[in-house]
Amino acid sequence: MTTANKCAISSCEQTPAATLDSQPLCREHFILVSYKRLDQYEEVRKGPGLAATDTESVRRFVHEAARAADAIEHTAQDLDNLERAKLLHIILSASELGRHLRRSPRKVATIPVRLCSEKLGGTWEEETETVLVSRYGAMVRCKHPAKAGDTLSVVRSDTGQTATARVAWQRPSGEEDVRIGVEFVGCENFWDLDWAAVEDSR
Ligand SMILES: [Zn+2]
Repeated sequence: MTTANKCAISSCEQTPAATLDSQPLCREHFILVSYKRLDQYEEVRKGPGLAATDTESVRRFVHEAARAADAIEHTAQDLDNLERAKLLHIILSASELGRHLRRSPRKVATIPVRLCSEKLGGTWEEETETVLVSRYGAMVRCKHPAKAGDTLSVVRSDTGQTATARVAWQRPSGEEDVRIGVEFVGCENFWDLDWAAVEDSR
């Protein structure tokens, strides 16, 4: 995950377990820093609103923190229950925060797509549809277990166009279906929409 051999917090000699904002952090400091940032953003969200922040950096934090917490939670052999609970809290709070971010215009649109996962030992395909689309991704109904960080292929059933996407979050929608958020990797305007016009019409 990182090549640095020391935590970025001065006076800490621990081995880094994660990277936040390009800073290598040991497990303890990763948890501390993430908690602090989540608290700060929560304050902003309840007050002036996240639109008042540098949304780009909040979004980066949300992704980095959730992915790193997930990776540590899965790979660390010596986690105690409290640490595990804190990591899960970070994953949940970050995805909650991500849901409040409106980084680009979104459009309610039902576009038929096929999702394909080539994950080792768990390949699947699903014909489904989008619930919301944005310039950078979509919210999609998905019955399969897609986890944050997974890579999927998204194929538009109408045009056959394919893009690689990363699962940003997964959550039960409260109905029968589960929804996932996907973000395209290196693909601009997959939906062929005029986003300036979408923004104007908000
Ligand atoms: Zn440290």
